[in-house]
Amino acid sequence: MATGFVWHERYMWHNTGRASGPFLSDASGWLEPDWRHAENSDTKRRFRNLLDVSGLLDQLVSIEPRPATVEELRRFHTAEYVEQIRALSAGAGGEGIDGSTVIGKGSYEVALLAAGGVMAAVDAVLDGTVDTAYALVRPPGHHALPDAAMGFCLFGNIAVAAHHARQARGLSRVAIVDWDVHHGNGTQAAFYADPSVLTISLHQDNCFPPNSGTVEENGEGPGQGYNVNVPLPPGSGDGAYAAAFERIVVPALEQFGPELIIVASGLDASAMDPLGRMMLSPSGFGRLAKIMVDAADRLCGGRLVLAHEGGYSAELVPFCGLAIVEALSGIETEVRDTVLQAFPAGMGQQELQPHQEALIDRVVQLVPAIA
Ligand SMILES: [Zn+2]
Repeated sequence: MATGFVWHERYMWHNTGRASGPFLSDASGWLEPDWRHAENSDTKRRFRNLLDVSGLLDQLVSIEPRPATVEELRRFHTAEYVEQIRALSAGAGGEGIDGSTVIGKGSYEVALLAAGGVMAAVDAVLDGTVDTAYALVRPPGHHALPDAAMGFCLFGNIAVAAHHARQARGLSRVAIVDWDVHHGNGTQAAFYADPSVLTISLHQDNCFPPNSGTVEENGEGPGQGYNVNVPLPPGSGDGAYAAAFERIVVPALEQFGPELIIVASGLDASAMDPLGRMMLSPSGFGRLAKIMVDAADRLCGGRLVLAHEGGYSAELVPFCGLAIVEALSGIETEVRDTVLQAFPAGMGQQELQPHQEALIDRVVQLVPAIA
């Protein structure tokens, strides 16, 4: 089982500068300004470095990212928006629409390489160069809108890659499963009226963006029923996520019959993330990845691409990422029983709780195909 890995040092050079964590400024005047921006290079670099020291990186197939072209971006973004980001990046930089998103000097070229990296992973899987792939790209993409940067995201890496799979590679049906703790609103917007791309987002109920990702948002027109939101209660852990995958995600995928599955792999539903209130452990993430591997094997010849999104715990992201890549590759490293693997898995209420099950029941009832 060959697993591809997309990485480029330049992903680390998207400079988000100083901020009040996720917020570019705290205008109240009560907080010491200019701490580090939450979306910085640390968690991703440390994820890649744990793969390295564990020996797993040497057993993966390196996939070289390429820059996305403007024409490829325009399958999702407006020409005006792409030019706006290019110009800001070439000048003094700028901000997105939400007081959180930074376009730094040179960020445009890095963002092109992120979108192109996910497309390179898709191509490698479709060409059979590898069976599965993990694209550890930055900046993230699932909040980006056709004409606006949002939630640390400049270009919709996965939306652009799904369009690429459909339009350049001729696939008829692509499924996107988003386990980032925040709602994948940009990906949802990209395919809201499109029945050829099934979008499923599991996220913390009404976390970010505000008032986004309800159960009732289920697509429109011909896309009705092809967008599924699973807004889990805060505190959901390994048991809740596994139940949601077994009862919602897998049946929806079976009903849809994808030719390729892309996972929006945010690691901010971990038990130690500063921007989420969920409890997934590294082994919990590994279990979700295995469920996706098995579903892809049964439904689409194993064709599975994971593209990195959020994840802000510099301590836990590396272990969650390692568990995921172990599940993808089928290779178990000797990194075992560390405190950071064991501690989150041992927390109380990791099992499915009744109020979490009630939400899952509600989603199942509203998705006719899987009820
Ligand atoms: Zn996120």
